[in-house]
Amino acid sequence: MRLLESVKKYSTQGRLAVICDGERLTYRELDEMSDSMATYFIKEFGQDRSPIVIHGNKDNLILVLMLAALKSGRAYVPLDVTFPIERVKQVINEVDAKVVVNFTEEALDGSYSKKDIENIIKNIKSESGLVENWVKDDENAYILFTSGSTGKPKGVQISKNNLDSFNDWFGKYMDLDENEDVMMNQVSYSFDVSVIPIYLGLIHGKTLNSLSKNTLENFKLLFNTLNESNIKYWVSTPALAEMCIRDVNFNSNLMPNLRTFFFAGEVLSKKLVKELMERFKGVRIINGYGPTEGTVLLSAIDVTEGMLEDERSIPIGYPLEGGILKIVDDKNNEVKDGEKGELLALSKSISKGYFNNEEMTSKVFFTEVINGQILRGYKTGDMAYYDNGILYYCGRKDFQIKLNGFRIEIEDIENNLRKVSNINNCVVLPVYKDEKISHLSSFVTLKEDNGLSSLKNSILIKDELKKYIPSYMVPRNIKVINEFPINTNGKVDRKKLMEEIK
Ligand code: AMP
Repeated sequence: MRLLESVKKYSTQGRLAVICDGERLTYRELDEMSDSMATYFIKEFGQDRSPIVIHGNKDNLILVLMLAALKSGRAYVPLDVTFPIERVKQVINEVDAKVVVNFTEEALDGSYSKKDIENIIKNIKSESGLVENWVKDDENAYILFTSGSTGKPKGVQISKNNLDSFNDWFGKYMDLDENEDVMMNQVSYSFDVSVIPIYLGLIHGKTLNSLSKNTLENFKLLFNTLNESNIKYWVSTPALAEMCIRDVNFNSNLMPNLRTFFFAGEVLSKKLVKELMERFKGVRIINGYGPTEGTVLLSAIDVTEGMLEDERSIPIGYPLEGGILKIVDDKNNEVKDGEKGELLALSKSISKGYFNNEEMTSKVFFTEVINGQILRGYKTGDMAYYDNGILYYCGRKDFQIKLNGFRIEIEDIENNLRKVSNINNCVVLPVYKDEKISHLSSFVTLKEDNGLSSLKNSILIKDELKKYIPSYMVPRNIKVINEFPINTNGKVDRKKLMEEIK
């Protein structure tokens, strides 16, 4: 595995691997500590290779644990602190995890704490010959749980082969050399854009500058950290840059060494690009596109000034190396250049499917024989069109949305809202501002009238809902109504409700 080999290689060169909240870890420490942890996993759990669940944020030890999982032949399942404990438990049951690490304040029965991990690392001697145990070929390296329309998250399985395919292509695309530069490590580990610093960063000997939740929630601290970081590669969703750009100090004086902005995960607006081009003259801006199911990215493009003059949105780019991206109509026939349709992807980087979920897997994954080779395919649910070999994105086919960079199925929220004790039925709607979703609004009917005001009810409902879904999925407004308007098809009239929140 290239990641593990590279970490071993740099471990002899005194390089710094990661820095988070002032704590540092060298490549050597990362390598040795993960060897020790892997030895422990192998000794304690032998042939049981069930995935390792890691619940936490950006602690350096989480990277150690990810590498240890890979070195012991196990996949890791990163669950950010934003995951409520109910959802964490759901995932633990789903993957039948024997090892659960919990770096959060919340209690989780039978899990290892940060202290436990530190003690194990201190006390165990790592054994040689670990390489045979490393995750290989089509075995899972990680499983990422994304919002699922049924109300239960879906576990996207990504293998070592999937990662090889992505790393080979995108390492070249980003033009990464082996100099000891600094790469930003901001994106939550439960979101796959974080694979860029973890894999491409460490494979190329970079120092990851991890921005913890704590740092991100304190603007002054964030700007100080950015200023001191010496970051050369920025990696985030557009949402973070949009937040930063509101401050005039977000310019090349803050990060004089910055050479590349890499964005992915949601629409990259022209407004943001224009502002960045003015404030960071000559800095490269890359727009990457792709779902978790295709291992981070399926296409990418360098954004040019010319694209800002074009009346269309910024393109999502050229297909990944060795992959095929095609646009099809409702009958699965390929459409002509310029015509819109669903984007289907075929590549070595396509996941083998959702963990333990044949039904969902067979709906969206398929295989096709191309030049005598079987390639896995994925129906992205994204609408797009080609123009001269360049792809343009034009929204979703379904109720999946992006809010502040987070992937959310509206039905996931609705199904969990229905679990709230006094909820009879509900509708969740995205509220748009400047062509972007600014927040979510919800209408609910109650099982019984408790005499409380809509505001009081909304507070109670939100508190209960937070137990089931991450806080970023909880609608900002929840309005209690007596009954839902019905359209001519006899369904809840979402359009009418949408008009009410405009
Ligand atoms: P995720 O699995 O969280 O990476 O979300 C994948 C979805 O985010 C895609 O299917 C798209 O709908 C959306 N997306 C990702 N990158 C872009 C982009 N550059 N432009 C527009 N939408 C994007």
